Amino acid sequence: MVEGPCCILTNNMKNTLVIGSGISGLTMALLLAQRGRKVILVEKLPFIGGYLNRFSRNGFRFDTGLHFTGGFGNVLSDMLEILNLQDVVKPAPIRTNVVLSDCGCDITLPSNGIPALAEALSAYFPKYADCIRKYYEAEQDVIRHTPVFDVKNYRQADFVAQMTEYDALTMQEFLCQNGLDAPELQAILPIMSLCHGTPPVEAPFSYHCRCSCGLDAQVSAIQHGGDAFINGFRREFARHNVQILTATTIERLQFHETQPICTHATLSNGQTFEVDEIYFAIHPSSYLPLLPERFLTPQFKRRTRNLKPTCSFFTIYGWLDNEVRAPNSLTFFLQSSNLNCILTPGHLMTHFSTGMVTSNDKMNGHTTFTAFRTMFPEDAESICGCNGDDYRGNARYLNFKQQFTELILNDVYQVYPHYKGHLHVVEAASPMTCRRFSPPVGSAYGTRQLIGNARTAGRLPVENCHALGHHVQFPGILGCMLGAFQEAMP
Ligand SMILES: Cc1cc2nc3c(=O)[nH]c(=O)nc-3n(C[C@H](O)[C@H](O)[C@H](O)COP(=O)(O)OP(=O)(O)OC[C@H]3O[C@@H](n4cnc5c(N)ncnc54)[C@H](O)[C@@H]3O)c2cc1C
Repeated sequence: MVEGPCCILTNNMKNTLVIGSGISGLTMALLLAQRGRKVILVEKLPFIGGYLNRFSRNGFRFDTGLHFTGGFGNVLSDMLEILNLQDVVKPAPIRTNVVLSDCGCDITLPSNGIPALAEALSAYFPKYADCIRKYYEAEQDVIRHTPVFDVKNYRQADFVAQMTEYDALTMQEFLCQNGLDAPELQAILPIMSLCHGTPPVEAPFSYHCRCSCGLDAQVSAIQHGGDAFINGFRREFARHNVQILTATTIERLQFHETQPICTHATLSNGQTFEVDEIYFAIHPSSYLPLLPERFLTPQFKRRTRNLKPTCSFFTIYGWLDNEVRAPNSLTFFLQSSNLNCILTPGHLMTHFSTGMVTSNDKMNGHTTFTAFRTMFPEDAESICGCNGDDYRGNARYLNFKQQFTELILNDVYQVYPHYKGHLHVVEAASPMTCRRFSPPVGSAYGTRQLIGNARTAGRLPVENCHALGHHVQFPGILGCMLGAFQEAMP
């Protein structure tokens, strides 16, 4: 299906293909088009947006993979300005709580900068005050030494990659070496691991900080959620003549006879394009089979073999009737404070976290409520037995959905007992649903960033092919946009 401005460009420019239209692909397509490239955005599903997509039930609009973000007033605002989306993507305030069920701990996190957060937590845990301040100073130090956060001035050509001490130790090692041994702190300080998906024992400290600093400084909701992004990108694509092909994927590539360069791409709709560059904003297992064996080094193959997915989510969606007033809020409810178990498979019933978001989008007329519980697809499969595509009407799957909807509601009522009788659930989505909307894996944050195991980001062994997105760079809306900026910078 061809969407949008069906322009026939008459010059002889080769095509730049962006494969996958989640936030990574959308950002990349627009950055390239702004520079005058002839861009074709190719999306497998009948609609663009990936996890940015919202859906409607009972007249309410619900977000799937975008509930909150960091970076407003900072790097996100800079990127929105460059993309000319600042008038459509706007922040809304949101209050953030952490509830640790096993430690009996309920804390509100301030949302006015990292120094305020450090002071608030130091006041909660006075015995650890110095160590807590040191932790946040180190986090800010990492950001100061990460040039891409200065998106307005960053130039890839000026950047020389340098290992720092923070790249060589894990988040968990940093906590232990700095005396941060209280179980509550081992959950609260790295709480934003739940927003990138790599457990503290695996994540380099620097990676964790790059993903978490925006959220630690300020969590914001987004007015009209994913709709704001998708509508804004559509407007800009029309201005910059980006061609959108939905319900289409890439089928075959042709290469230069002697050099590792892709010359042509054939799509599932039968069209063949002469290629300038290709950006794959999809899971590596979907495009690596298209690259010729002769170009793939053993190191590259080892790196891609070792990719491990992050968790996915089981999500319930509902609305609150007028008997209950609830401002925008985000609650991290941790049934167990062991983030390492929560973020690795095999702990489905014993270690999990449920994120709970109340949202007041004017267009909904009521407060909507979303709760998402960490879950790995393989753990879900062990209960519902669904490992193919044909599962939706299946009785075992429906039972599984019913069972976990009730379990999540139990968590919700522990935190919000006054919602009982006033929260009306209208939909549930499992890791299998995520897999349909972000094929072929359905992980929430792509692949985990394991210390000592570089991923496949950037230029691939075929010189004019690049890897993008949360499988290979940073996850989350902010992280994926930043990854695209990094790759697009001259
Ligand atoms: C339940 C849930 C809640 C989340 N909440 C938040 C949040 O509040 N804040 C936040 O920042 N992040 C959140 N995330 C994470 C965030 O949504 C993702 O990290 C981010 O959207 C990933 O973007 P992406 O562009 O890399 O991939 P995706 O959004 O997965 O997009 C990939 C696109 O590529 C398409 N595609 C796949 N294969 C092919 C192919 N072979 N050919 C063509 N197209 C293909 C897919 O159909 C899809 O449209 C959440 C995720 C989930 C699942």
